[in-house]
Amino acid sequence: TDKMFGGFRKTSERLSENLTGVVGTAKLDNDTLDMVEDALIVSDLGPAAAARIRAKLEEKRFGLSITERALKEAVAEEIAAILRPVAIPLEITAFPRPQVILVIGVNGSGKTTTIAKLGHWLQEDDYGVMLAAGDTFRAAAIGQLKVWAERIDVPIITGPEGGDPASIVFDAVKTATDTGIDALIVDTAGRLQNKRELMDELAKIRKVLGRLNPEAPHDVILVLDATNGQNALSQIEIFKEVAGVTGLIMTKLDGTARGGVLVAAAEQFGLPIHAIGVGETLDDLRPFDPDLVARVIA
Ligand code: GDP
Repeated sequence: TDKMFGGFRKTSERLSENLTGVVGTAKLDNDTLDMVEDALIVSDLGPAAAARIRAKLEEKRFGLSITERALKEAVAEEIAAILRPVAIPLEITAFPRPQVILVIGVNGSGKTTTIAKLGHWLQEDDYGVMLAAGDTFRAAAIGQLKVWAERIDVPIITGPEGGDPASIVFDAVKTATDTGIDALIVDTAGRLQNKRELMDELAKIRKVLGRLNPEAPHDVILVLDATNGQNALSQIEIFKEVAGVTGLIMTKLDGTARGGVLVAAAEQFGLPIHAIGVGETLDDLRPFDPDLVARVIA
């Protein structure tokens, strides 16, 4: 948790700074509520979550005297209430195996690193893991994923640069099935610049997967970079449309003051948040603990 706390330090400082001094009359009145709402919005929690938190505070405490400390605690409680329903861990339950986990997200979001962290994590839980290098558009992506696969000591299926991602995925599922793999984690291209192509590519992967196992892909995890703030939200919107999304992992929550976007995402989309990234090493993927995160943020 040390890194967790450190991770959200800037987000927490920002919200705290924004909330400081809003308790003017020592009573929770409309002016104070307005200021709380504004503070939440400028702290990247977004207008919808801010309005909800305001309404809850109003309902529970309007006209009552409140200290700054108590206000922050009350805000933390409402943030936790928004986050709890979406804190849903990734479970490996597919039968037959493997569980096919597509990982999507724009280039630079931390997708490759997150795949490695997730693979490492599942392996520590004694699951047999395999990676598939479905981002054939970037040669560097294939190479990088290979390096990670070696480092965490899991098999990887790759193809040539510019190769057909769907055929790599086909090979990967076959091999994973034959070798008793539990979780097959598939990297995909992150070229949002060409939405049409990306959509076709992902659709083709889905089609091939569906022929091998109608349940696959079992998970479509969107990796988001918290430092993008509100832009992360439009990425959810687009990827929902392009790829279908079953869950989120938000990365780079360390060192950014924009961690509030996690709350905005939870409020706006209600998609499961499986884990969060708080650093660059393999151990920096953390379970998403809503109460802890809420307490750290506010
Ligand atoms: P991709 O292009 O989406 O595959 O992104 P990469 O996995 O290559 O990550 C891009 C950069 O972000 C790399 O330098 C990673 O080390 C870094 N990165 C990924 N996740 C995190 C995180 O949770 N925190 C921090 N600070 N950096 C991260």
